[in-house]
Amino acid sequence: MLTNDQLAAWDRENFFHPSTHLAQHARGETPSRIITGASGVHIEDRDGRKLLDAFAGLYCVNAGYGRREITDAIAAQAAELAYYHSYVGHGTETSITLAKMVMDRAPDHMSKVYFGLGGSDANETNVKLVWYYNNILGRPAKKKIISRWRGYHGSGLMTGSLTGLELFHKKFDLPLANVLHTTAPDYFRRAELSLSEAEFTAQCAADLEALIAREGADTIAAFIAEPLLGTGGIVPPPAGYWEAIQPILEKHDILLIADEVVTGFGRLGTMFGSEHYGLKPDLITIAKGLTSAYAPLSGSIVSERMWKVLEEGTDEFGPFGHGWTYSAHPIGAAAGVANLALIDRLGLVGNAEKVGAHLLAGLRDALGAHAHVGDVRGEGMLAAVEFVKDRETRAFFDPSEKVGARIAAELAGLGVIARAMPQGDILGFAPPLCLSAVEADEVVDKTAQAVLNVL
Ligand code: PLP
Repeated sequence: MLTNDQLAAWDRENFFHPSTHLAQHARGETPSRIITGASGVHIEDRDGRKLLDAFAGLYCVNAGYGRREITDAIAAQAAELAYYHSYVGHGTETSITLAKMVMDRAPDHMSKVYFGLGGSDANETNVKLVWYYNNILGRPAKKKIISRWRGYHGSGLMTGSLTGLELFHKKFDLPLANVLHTTAPDYFRRAELSLSEAEFTAQCAADLEALIAREGADTIAAFIAEPLLGTGGIVPPPAGYWEAIQPILEKHDILLIADEVVTGFGRLGTMFGSEHYGLKPDLITIAKGLTSAYAPLSGSIVSERMWKVLEEGTDEFGPFGHGWTYSAHPIGAAAGVANLALIDRLGLVGNAEKVGAHLLAGLRDALGAHAHVGDVRGEGMLAAVEFVKDRETRAFFDPSEKVGARIAAELAGLGVIARAMPQGDILGFAPPLCLSAVEADEVVDKTAQAVLNVL
């Protein structure tokens, strides 16, 4: 058997890791973390350490780890038919079944689902769908996409551009043309502390109106947003946000793309985040929770109103020229069918609401009054603790102090994984939706201990 040192050496020599400080890793300053197994909400590493994964991988293992129902379905599908494509009307029993299961769960006004591999490619598809739609409608100038600062929509060329985090633009020559960013709906980090929540919501709406007026509504095709900012800091929108934003989009005939890669399939305690916040999107992006990450699969759910135009377009211009080799991959589809059935059977959407509320209340009780905790927030099975240098002035720590990363490392040492979010000193929690109240208590207790040890 290979030793850990041997594997770590091979890792440093050969493996180009995503979202990693390359030089530090090559120098061995950040350890190779080799995960060997997992069950329920726990993962195990090669040293035999068991950790409670309170971020569900990258908030994707919604059903929890080691689910035999899903792995058996994958194995059976692989043995029977590991691959066939879905071009020109081809499909498999599982891919057609999954499409039906997704549409049975999607909001009523949605019509079809286009399958991809991951959240980034699904959002690339969505942008192409929006452009195609406006070209068919004879509006070739209506192409710009508005996203929000601190939104996360992927790492591709277009999706990395839509992502409103500097780290994903810096030195990549992004954002591309046709991408605009508007105010992040983060009340805690609002520029003017004197604003009430309602005033801040009004300001977000006014900023959007001003951007549309500046650019011209006839140049703007779509607004893309996560129902709740995820990677940008796990920030629920301020009260009344969506009620203020949606009418502006409707007024200017701007499509709404709800990026539900994180919020889809139960994370907010409803099947979709759109349901939770009363959104009526034209496109919904799904990935992660669709298969609970047992196999890569994503999707773009298209509204009836868009679908009608796409159909007419192909009658006029010929086949829809967009496809991936692995669209609706049978193994991903088998994982999806088993996963969605399991989410229903175990009542995981309801559990996310119930245990998520318990987790958030626990974090608030344990940390809400701490001198360096500025905000404890969340929705469903998503929560975040934001650290500040000074509670009164909301002065932040200097980034070089790496407060969030140090607390996450301390917490991992105590046996719980939370995520130091990429911007700010924010500790994020997004456990599998099957988390129990007892496990939530363990997350809270150990987080409080880690904060005490570091700050
Ligand atoms: N959209 C959102 C809201 C996400 O959180 C993510 C990933 O975290 C993506 C898109 C990109 O998905 P992927 O990493 O599967 O490409």
